Amino acid sequence: MSENNFRFDNNDSSKKNNRPQGNPNNLYWVYGLILLFILFSIILLDSNKGEEEITQQRFWNELVKNNYVDHIVIVNEKNVEVYLTREALADEKYKKYNQTRVFGGNNPAFTFRISQNDRYFYEKLDKTGVVFKNEERADYLKDLPTYIFLIGTIVLLWVFFFRRIGNGMGGSQIFNIGKSRASLFDKENRVKVTFSDVAGLEEAKQEVVEIVEFLKNPQKFTRLGGRIPKGVLLVGPPGTGKTLLAKAVAGEAQVPFFSLSGSDFVEMFVGVGAARVRDLFKQAKEKAPCIIFIDEIDAIGRSRGRNNFTGGNDERENTLNQLLVEMDGFNTDSGVILMAATNRPDILDNALLRPGRFDRVISVDKPDIKEREAIFNVHIQKLVKASNVDVHTLAAQTPGFVGADIMNVCNEAALIAARKNKNAVEMEDFNDAIDRVTSGLEKKNKIISPEEKRLIAYHEAGHAVAGWFLEHADPIVKISIIPRGNAGGYVSFLPRETMLYNTEQLTDKVCVSLGGRAAEDIALGTISTGAVSDLDYVTKIAYSMVTIYGMNENVGNISFHDKDDMPLVKPYSEALAEIIDREVYKYVQAAYERVKNLLREHRDALEKLAQALLEKEVLYNVEIEKLIGPRPYPNWSTSVVNSFMPSSR
Ligand code: ADP
Repeated sequence: MSENNFRFDNNDSSKKNNRPQGNPNNLYWVYGLILLFILFSIILLDSNKGEEEITQQRFWNELVKNNYVDHIVIVNEKNVEVYLTREALADEKYKKYNQTRVFGGNNPAFTFRISQNDRYFYEKLDKTGVVFKNEERADYLKDLPTYIFLIGTIVLLWVFFFRRIGNGMGGSQIFNIGKSRASLFDKENRVKVTFSDVAGLEEAKQEVVEIVEFLKNPQKFTRLGGRIPKGVLLVGPPGTGKTLLAKAVAGEAQVPFFSLSGSDFVEMFVGVGAARVRDLFKQAKEKAPCIIFIDEIDAIGRSRGRNNFTGGNDERENTLNQLLVEMDGFNTDSGVILMAATNRPDILDNALLRPGRFDRVISVDKPDIKEREAIFNVHIQKLVKASNVDVHTLAAQTPGFVGADIMNVCNEAALIAARKNKNAVEMEDFNDAIDRVTSGLEKKNKIISPEEKRLIAYHEAGHAVAGWFLEHADPIVKISIIPRGNAGGYVSFLPRETMLYNTEQLTDKVCVSLGGRAAEDIALGTISTGAVSDLDYVTKIAYSMVTIYGMNENVGNISFHDKDDMPLVKPYSEALAEIIDREVYKYVQAAYERVKNLLREHRDALEKLAQALLEKEVLYNVEIEKLIGPRPYPNWSTSVVNSFMPSSR
């Protein structure tokens, strides 16, 4: 599907138009090669090539005796180079040794070795009157590997260094490091997203409509002395369409749109972030009226001086300060509007949120059932869908999904249908896609031993029985023991869209989670590691009930809800910590006993479900009802639960 076009990926092709072209990295390779070449030439050209190694005996008996030796050079006291006289070189026999060097002089004709401090050799030289010279020379060949290694390392470091910077800059020069890395959508590659592409989010759209108006016609507002917000902060979970909304504003207002992410400012060099902020605003002012969109602004907007044990935050703080300065520096008449998105408004610095900066905060929440329906409609439009596709049911089946998930489901459904060579995307494909998005890919060919399968069947049947017979449990959509992602099997429930839970509801949730382990214990007499994620969930809920929601009598109405990611110091005493741990233990233990008793009571239901699962692998709500009778408590949405029954079954 083409929705991906809406995303502001760093790989966006449009970026290329806005950045200097050319790749200077190639040049550094060339420099390195030239350096190596020069070094080699020196060594090769100037080294003694072509001389013949002879014995010392031959030197004395043939060359010295016949007076052929002009002089000798004793290199490093061990290699002797023999230079012949003119006459000797003219001789037919030695003609081939007449070689001149590139840098002047002759090459020696012969060499031989002597042992170091060979007194006898020197005495003999004296006696015969051969002219000799001592010379110290570096042994290039011996040192060559070291040279190559050194130069190679330098060249590699050099290249690596510039690559790193270069990559971050999209291949531009080091001198551009302080330049803003925003991608710009303007006349040539204008944003084509409009409000009609953004489904749901009605309140958010209302809020930003005014901004579009202002960008199109600023006089209308300034005439009466009004001031338009400088910054709009979109707050909401990832994938809810914040970027999409910002793009739609730019698309509707037909103004240039700078898009970048908070982390684009951050670099390992001090001062770069601030320089980039300055540059961004400079560019924006030149293009005004325009919109700057900073995604994930929490990367730079975290409150200052928090968690600053390392002192490593200075660069980020400088960047934030610069952003604040710039926001103060432009007034809205200049026509630049800053939009930013975050899913952690709680950690943002207060200075960012005060009036005059991001003075409008718009919350973009997860869509409710109606909004999901609208989002499905937007994305399904682009597919060839079969007549049995019911958008309302799809929306009902996907509680908790955000816009990005829905887009993903539609895309998956289209792919699944294509894989099956269908002419249109059917409801069944959507159901499969929802399963896939929620639980990962089916691993049909994963090998599972019969014992393991039995264990999984009882485990899932345990969850299901607990969910069936506990009043506050959510209705069951289906049970599956086909492995998906990391899960060996799963029970999918249809969660109610609610914001608040009471103690009974949470306790029933905990009991349903413990149902898997309890079933293993009761039916198979052993327990397995399969319960790890259940236990994880239970632990989190139990601790939250005691320390955050004040749901424990002995601890009382106390909440230690810390917004910090990792508080280093517990905000309570050791004594209370002990009580908390004990209460959590007691609570979980009681819940486990409760669900075990429940399963014992409904032992035959557990057996029936487990056997049916071993046989069929997947059981839908209707089938469960046939096996173990109707649920004693009404499902909050029976029609939706039943709609999951695929047509093929
Ligand atoms: P965020 O910025 O909040 O993380 P995005 O705006 O990047 O989310 O959303 C990702 C994709 O999900 C969008 O490109 C769009 O295809 C889809 N999407 C999200 N919300 C909506 C929506 N309300 N209407 C239509 N599509 C949406």
